[in-house]
Amino acid sequence: MEGCNAYYYATRDPLGAAGDFVTAPEVSQMFGEMIGAALADCWKQAGSPADAVYAELGPGRGTLASDALRVMRAAGWSGDAHFVETSPPLRQAQAATLPDATWHDTIDELPNVPLLIVANEFFDALPVRQWVCGVERRVTVAGGGLAFDRDGDIVETSPAREQAAGALAAKLAANGGAALIIDYGHATSAPGDTLQAVRGHRYAPILADPGEQDLTAHVDFEAIGKAAADAGAIVTPVVTQGEWLQRLGIDARAEALSAANPEQAETVRTALERLTATDQMGALFKVIAIHSPDWPTPAGL
Ligand code: SAH
Repeated sequence: MEGCNAYYYATRDPLGAAGDFVTAPEVSQMFGEMIGAALADCWKQAGSPADAVYAELGPGRGTLASDALRVMRAAGWSGDAHFVETSPPLRQAQAATLPDATWHDTIDELPNVPLLIVANEFFDALPVRQWVCGVERRVTVAGGGLAFDRDGDIVETSPAREQAAGALAAKLAANGGAALIIDYGHATSAPGDTLQAVRGHRYAPILADPGEQDLTAHVDFEAIGKAAADAGAIVTPVVTQGEWLQRLGIDARAEALSAANPEQAETVRTALERLTATDQMGALFKVIAIHSPDWPTPAGL
């Protein structure tokens, strides 16, 4: 999964209608704006430290960052943007939107200053391991193609995600700051096979065309929360994306956008529905914040 995704992201921009999948910031500017407002508010409540930077993990095309930073700058924050991104084509897309950003390969390389962190659909791309009756499920060659070496009731673990959450939490605990983690997944650890492949906006057979389709698995928020708490950070309860965006005032933002651009009202209404409705992204996607003990809990959580 790690090798396939490294190749997949290194060789394309998979986002958007012409790609493989669409993410929340690509649905509407309102998503990044709500995040920017929550981070700016948290930063002000923490005493507006002048050296705080915005940091995003896996920023895709830079759309979320550009919407969030616009709101944060309007609120008085004036720091730099730092991106943790390994994909050369996506770094290029991010640079087209935000040429002054600084790029890093890992979380550990982020600067040691207060951090305002966002990770949307980043953790789901990090690899999972699958276990059947305590034995790790592996991929083998059978009948000229790839096959799993065993089937049965599956339990997933993800040392890579726990490592990332721990690194993030250690940075925050040492330097101050808060992180918003948004992804699809479950609030509490549970057995089950959630590995999936997506190509051209459809599910695809998982072992077909390695490196040519997006491989993800649902995020176990309990596991990453525990890794973050063990590293010395405070972890909030899990909230669904729909509930969180509504608590942050997305309905009012949608009304304001529609009033200012009546010809866009239908587009805004559809986007709001897509981001918040329980049968769309509103319930499957979840949110937690991880923050340093001396910083406030971000709004909405
Ligand atoms: N956050 C964006 C993009 C989500 S796609 C959005 O919401 O639109 C996943 C992102 O994580 C891509 O930018 C991808 O290149 C990046 N990514 C995946 N694995 C990574 C890794 N191991 N290290 C750093 N970035 C990674």
